[in-house]
Amino acid sequence: MEENRQKTCIICNEEKEEGITVITEFICTSCESEMVQTKVEDDRYPFFVRQLKQLWVRFNA
Ligand SMILES: [Zn+2]
Repeated sequence: MEENRQKTCIICNEEKEEGITVITEFICTSCESEMVQTKVEDDRYPFFVRQLKQLWVRFNA
């Protein structure tokens, strides 16, 4: 049986081995570091916030 350690990142939707799991969802290391460097003025900021909000909504439900 094949070992499946890859998880799908909720930000980039790519399968990665390395990353963090927030509650039940997975964020790969590259997206994580990208988010950390993203400033509020950045165009991508609302995108990250929207993706992460899904987590908090589910967690608080
Ligand atoms: Zn990613």
